[in-house]
Amino acid sequence: MAKRKVGKIIRRAGLKFGDPDIEIPIAVDLLKVEGVPQRDTEVSYYSREFPLESFSIAQSASAVWAQKERAEHTPETEELYREYQKKITPWINKIKRSGERVPNVSSQTENPTEIIRNKAKELGYSEIGFTKFDRRYIYQSRKSFVRNDLPNVICLAYEQEYIETQNIPSYSSEIAQGDAYLTQADLSLKLADFINELGFSAQISGPAWHFGPMIPMFVEAGLGQLGVNGQLLSPHFGSRARLQLIITDAYLDYDSPIDYGMYKFCELCQVCFMRCPGKAIQSQRVWFRGVEKNKLIAKRCRPVMARYSGCGICMKVCPIQKYGMQPVMEHYVETGEVLGKGTDDLESYELENKGYFRSGKVPIFDRDFFDMPEGRIEHNLVEEFRDNLANMKNLDKQSEYELYLEFTNALNSSETRNGEVVDMGMDMGF
Ligand code: SF4
Ligand code: SF4
Repeated sequence: MAKRKVGKIIRRAGLKFGDPDIEIPIAVDLLKVEGVPQRDTEVSYYSREFPLESFSIAQSASAVWAQKERAEHTPETEELYREYQKKITPWINKIKRSGERVPNVSSQTENPTEIIRNKAKELGYSEIGFTKFDRRYIYQSRKSFVRNDLPNVICLAYEQEYIETQNIPSYSSEIAQGDAYLTQADLSLKLADFINELGFSAQISGPAWHFGPMIPMFVEAGLGQLGVNGQLLSPHFGSRARLQLIITDAYLDYDSPIDYGMYKFCELCQVCFMRCPGKAIQSQRVWFRGVEKNKLIAKRCRPVMARYSGCGICMKVCPIQKYGMQPVMEHYVETGEVLGKGTDDLESYELENKGYFRSGKVPIFDRDFFDMPEGRIEHNLVEEFRDNLANMKNLDKQSEYELYLEFTNALNSSETRNGEVVDMGMDMGF
């Protein structure tokens, strides 16, 4: 195809601290929208009338089901998740308390924007941006927890290790994800300390435990655009970005949303849509809660994630993840084509006990592969208890009491009630 005219060149800071800036040429025919198309009044309406809830709470029945499926299909991955939970839990506890720290107000710096950006970069974050903290993206169950006197947000993306990510889905790629989370936890606490020393409060969201969806604020801060795969396509490493927020009362100069050409590029690419083994990704966008997006079908995704080490093929096959935005956009300007599309290098993957799938080939699953419970686990338990009572007429008092005890024990140990982190899955609630 023909060479494309360049519409604009985006200059971004280099990947690591001290690296030179990079320039990304965006073809004129890819330019469409700064950030993501959205209708602000609808975002407000849905957040007010239908507040967001964490997937692990709103769909806790499937989360617990997934845990059992994982233990059966890939016991070593299940064991890895258990180990990971043991390691991350103390970090999450510290992160949850980050907002309680008292800042050193005697040293308040007037405008610390660049000081914080440089410190975050030095610590190891690659993409750093600033915007208004959008409270419409807080889960209902966490609203009372999030401080309401911290109006600004620092968006921080950390790069998950490259090589193991290309082996998705696998045990080793799950280690890469867990390691990224553990590093992020450490770095964010160091950055929060630093902000406290500058004289400001700081409360951390993530990893593994979040106030709510984060991608909208990353887009607003110019750190990427939303892909068909439902993930942030960030300039240096696409959706291999692991995200965190720090909210603060530090005065910050806001960044702006940027058109990286991803809206139109995704329409041409569609690789994640074609390669998803669960057919969970839709090729067409819809308006959902005030945002135009390719809405993921969670009930076709989770059964694959549960049995194939977190899946993540939609991340692995994305050219922006694999090659980075700069080479992909340069290739598009030169050829009008999507770098890697149609090649095994980009598109192939292996599913344990299912086979190796080259570009153009996808696995086939029986219909019942996708059967899983939906909704909150406690709602399902109540229905089960009611059915058990109805099916066991003329129970003596002792049996009735045993049934009741079984029900209350199950209720008490449900993951929703304990607030346990049940998996390392993707954030699905954008
Ligand atoms: S994680 Fe796997 S099943 Fe889910 S959307 Fe991505 S590719 Fe599809
Ligand atoms: S694989 Fe292609 S269509 Fe999917 S998110 Fe990445 S660039 Fe967009």
